[in-house]
Amino acid sequence: MIRANDNYSKLKASYLFSDIAKKVNEYQQQNPDVHIIRLGIGDVTRALAPAVIKGFHEGVDEMANDVTFRGYGPEQGYAFLREAIAKNDFQDRGADILPDEIFVSDGAKCDTGNFQELFAKDIKVAIPDPVYPAYLDTNVMAGRTGEYENGRYNGIVYMDCLKENNFLPNLPDEQVDLIYLCFPNNPTGSTATKKVLTAWVEYAKENHALILFDAAYESFIRDEALPKTIYEITGAKEVAVEFRSFSKTAGFTGTRCGFTVIPKDCMIYDSKGEKISLHAMWNRRHITKFNGVSYPVQKAAQAVYSEEGHAQVKSQIAYYLNNADIISKTIESFGFDYIGGKNSPYIWIDGAGRDSWDFFDLLLTKAGVVCTPGGGFGRCGKYYIRISAFNSLENVILAMDRLKEALK
Ligand code: PLP
Repeated sequence: MIRANDNYSKLKASYLFSDIAKKVNEYQQQNPDVHIIRLGIGDVTRALAPAVIKGFHEGVDEMANDVTFRGYGPEQGYAFLREAIAKNDFQDRGADILPDEIFVSDGAKCDTGNFQELFAKDIKVAIPDPVYPAYLDTNVMAGRTGEYENGRYNGIVYMDCLKENNFLPNLPDEQVDLIYLCFPNNPTGSTATKKVLTAWVEYAKENHALILFDAAYESFIRDEALPKTIYEITGAKEVAVEFRSFSKTAGFTGTRCGFTVIPKDCMIYDSKGEKISLHAMWNRRHITKFNGVSYPVQKAAQAVYSEEGHAQVKSQIAYYLNNADIISKTIESFGFDYIGGKNSPYIWIDGAGRDSWDFFDLLLTKAGVVCTPGGGFGRCGKYYIRISAFNSLENVILAMDRLKEALK
């Protein structure tokens, strides 16, 4: 008899975005003339930059000629892209990361989700609340949790991110083995200083733990004092893996490219307490289960690091950050508390005791604006909503004008 993985039955169905879509569709049917403005899902809206398109085309043209055609490429990514990443994203910031410590992939969702399979089933996992759902659900699938009760899975160490701690997880009171961190954060938009990350690196060293650091939104950091990579922190190479993505950095959500950094100094332990190279383990996993990112896509990603590509993607980020600024100022003018929107495309708004789905309904029905109810990201998001800056400037201005009318 072919038996199912029982852990899947523990998963709480991910209703968030389908529930939002259902409510939005119903509202649209009842109000066909309303132009609904979507500031909910965190997907980019602007076209790929011209330099990126040029790189993409060059890659496609090479595939059209027997002489330059490429078949299977290196599973870890082409050297031209790994070298560009290592130099521009790390070495130029004083972080000593080498090209062969970078594994190019089809995105950070797959990598953050797949990475947990390198660890034993009975490790203690610490996850922030609210959280990007892939970290939690993939650990549920792997059998690292008990049942779901009162909005939480038994066995997980949840790290509450609330106003009281500035939406930054506190160091756990108990010993944990695997720690998920994400800065700038989705959904809250909070950022972590070097001091905050240093405390985590020290915790990981003391406890022989590993940090999985998701930096998918690092390109939104404008504050020069904030670290863009965890490897700006001394000692992080021994205890942290970093996930990156071209999705939000350069509009690759539909093109698909990201990468994971695993320094060779990073060790985990076998059941006898002997050190094992995490780099070697992921490499083994990668060559077994992954056949590389398509050549034209890697050429497109390489173009992000050219002089013109860099300037173009920077201006796209500036465009979204300007939207975020407009949203933040409007929210502030209503007297709502919020965080994010400065070094992040997300604004996390305190509904002052209003349930996040009620707040969602209010914005939809009174203003035709779609946000994301915070409850969908965890128990700590129950009284918050997330507004995203990923839309056109015109739509953001229109949405804010409507909110001013609706909430006055
Ligand atoms: N990590 C975080 C925190 C995200 O918010 C997202 C996407 O929204 C991802 C990873 C996924 O990125 P990718 O498109 O590279 O799979």
